[in-house]
Amino acid sequence: MDVSLLLNDLNAAQREAVAAPPGPLLVLAGAGSGKTRVLTHRVAWLVGVEHISPLSIMAVTFTNKAAQEMRGRIEAMLGFPVGGMWFGTFHGLSHRLLRAHWREAGLPQSFQILDSQDQLRLVRRTLKNLELDEAYWPPKQAQWFINSHKEAGRRPQHVGESRDPQQQQLLRVYQAYEEACRRMGLVDFAELLLRAYELLRDDSAMRRHYQQRFRHVLVDEFQDTNAIQYAWLKLFAADSGNLFVVGDDDQSIYGWRGARVENMLQFEKDFPGTKMIRLEQNYRSTATILKAANAVISHNDGRLGKDLWTEGKAGGPILLYTAYNDIDETNFVVDRVQDWIAQGQARQDVAILYRSNAQSRVLEEALLQAGIPYRVYGGLRFFERQEIKDALGYLRLLASRHDDPSFERIVNVPTRGLGNKTLEAVRALARAENLSLWLAAKRLVDSGGVPARAANALAAFLDLINTMDKETAELALAERVEHVLARSGLFEHYQKEQGERAETRIENLEELANACRNFAFDGDDDMDPLAAFLAHAALEAGEGQAEAWEDCVQLMSLHSAKGLEFALVFLTGMEEGLFPHQRSMNEPGRLEEERRLCYVGMTRAMRQLYVTHAEIRRLHGSEHHTSPSRFLGEMPEELVNVVRGAGSVYTAGGPSYRPPATQGSRETPAAGGMQLGQRVRHETFGEGVVLNVEGQGQHARVQVNFEGIGSKWLVTAYANLQQVS
Ligand code: ATP
Ligand code: MG
Repeated sequence: MDVSLLLNDLNAAQREAVAAPPGPLLVLAGAGSGKTRVLTHRVAWLVGVEHISPLSIMAVTFTNKAAQEMRGRIEAMLGFPVGGMWFGTFHGLSHRLLRAHWREAGLPQSFQILDSQDQLRLVRRTLKNLELDEAYWPPKQAQWFINSHKEAGRRPQHVGESRDPQQQQLLRVYQAYEEACRRMGLVDFAELLLRAYELLRDDSAMRRHYQQRFRHVLVDEFQDTNAIQYAWLKLFAADSGNLFVVGDDDQSIYGWRGARVENMLQFEKDFPGTKMIRLEQNYRSTATILKAANAVISHNDGRLGKDLWTEGKAGGPILLYTAYNDIDETNFVVDRVQDWIAQGQARQDVAILYRSNAQSRVLEEALLQAGIPYRVYGGLRFFERQEIKDALGYLRLLASRHDDPSFERIVNVPTRGLGNKTLEAVRALARAENLSLWLAAKRLVDSGGVPARAANALAAFLDLINTMDKETAELALAERVEHVLARSGLFEHYQKEQGERAETRIENLEELANACRNFAFDGDDDMDPLAAFLAHAALEAGEGQAEAWEDCVQLMSLHSAKGLEFALVFLTGMEEGLFPHQRSMNEPGRLEEERRLCYVGMTRAMRQLYVTHAEIRRLHGSEHHTSPSRFLGEMPEELVNVVRGAGSVYTAGGPSYRPPATQGSRETPAAGGMQLGQRVRHETFGEGVVLNVEGQGQHARVQVNFEGIGSKWLVTAYANLQQVS
């Protein structure tokens, strides 16, 4: 390997890190200074120059996508594949370990991953089983209680006595939840980490094996590791001491999920002799963007402190747009994106960032209308879409019959005449006898515990699953999935659904089969392909790469933008209460975390940064008058150009001022008094959100997206929609 080739495109500090002798090393550096680049080169260095086997290297990244990209770069540098290297997220790597050692970890071989939505559903059921009223025991709070204890490494028995009756109850919920997971062979995200950690901690032979195997452990985005992740790293690296971590305290944005930026300081204490390297040159952004970002973050206290400079061009000013309302804001953004595309620039170089996922819907609609392909990271995720989850429900039940959340999900999808009464009977028996729903259903069928018609319907369902399993056991994964989609009736079910959404759903289902076809498991164990794919789906849910090859605009929350870079960036919804988020306003610590999030957002931009806010915003069904985010005020005035002042209205046709009251589609007298975004209730379809309005009076029609049903066009005069506040 040509050493100079590897070091040529690095600066002196970066080289020092890449070519450092073995031992603990911490790179502490600001955004865009090449931390990820250093990590990538370091792996190539170890393999290509130090002749370390790829088998002895483990690298931890923040997303699976980042891991794939890095692997690609490394292989390009080396000129040969590095299969066998462990490369992935904490969750992905823990999962790999548990698959390989399920028996030692005390798990069934067919264990399934419970994503956070499913987890919430299971917590809800647990509360119900304990006869705790959701009104007093919010499921989300219980879920948070469970996860934060797991993330701190505490099982129920470690939580400790509390006199507080509320804590005692939550502990009971935690216990019952754990028991339910054990019975069903389900493993939630926090459990993946904790279980893998306990496995290594308690099994000394296993620990020695892995400590001997992985002589080099590397970690990107180290500032966002939580207690259990750090403990996990220390176990792996305890013997070799070769732990190479890179991070930026100013980009620690997961404190609310237990990340401990203190780990960066602790590192030097835990690994005496740590080599510390700082990188100070930014290669990503224009000087203007960098200066503004530095100014914003300087308002935080207690930073480790970094000077970040660039040799790059000054670049144009940051552009600030004050929108009348969020529709106006969206139109502005979409117009700018269209200009960009018209200039022959790539769509994938554009990112539209927002603080709250709920903001994406309006943006998505505007992009759809403008015919601009886009992709949403971490919001409307491919693997979380209703039809995909239905399909996965079938597949998961094939893999493990005791997966209750999947059973619940699909037992009556498509409808097969199973009434709520029958299902209640199944649940009651499961509860009373501590059985999975599958076994309870089987027993009810066998014992004649339900009326003949219900028993027949149940038996038909059980039979369907068993038969599909048998019929497809020998098929390749994609064929297996196609068969299940057809045989289960899911395809037909969604084909019958009215409206344009049905079409998308069918496309999504077809895409699922495609995803299977393209799915290549890079494991070195003989994991069953279906199990591997289901795990991939559960782990990938947060990243949602549907059409990876298409050139499209990127929509994502600020949290998912970490580590990425784009030529053109929009930071939208810069309003007090939205960003910084309402929840953070009264806690200095949380407010600083919001500011770091702003810093992360700004430093994603390479060439041009737009910041926008709306004076009126509709969120969660009601309109709010807002004031500009304090972070806007923290950007030095001379670096920001105002595109149009407050109270004005942007129009695509050119600069014109109009009184706000006549602007924006929301203000036009809409069908039957219905407004976009309005929540409504329909007698048959339940609750939904108005997506479109058309026509007037007798001819007025609205398109409503009903929860769990999809979108439907309704004539307002007949639909009898009730407005829900
Ligand atoms: P973040 O904090 O956002 O994760 P980072 O510190 O990981 O950023 P990188 O993503 O590695 O930074 O690098 C930022 C950009 O600068 C990338 O496009 C990278 O290729 C480029 N870059 C880094 N170092 C150099 C260098 N020495 N010469 C030229 N370009 C560089
Ligand atoms: Mg990085």
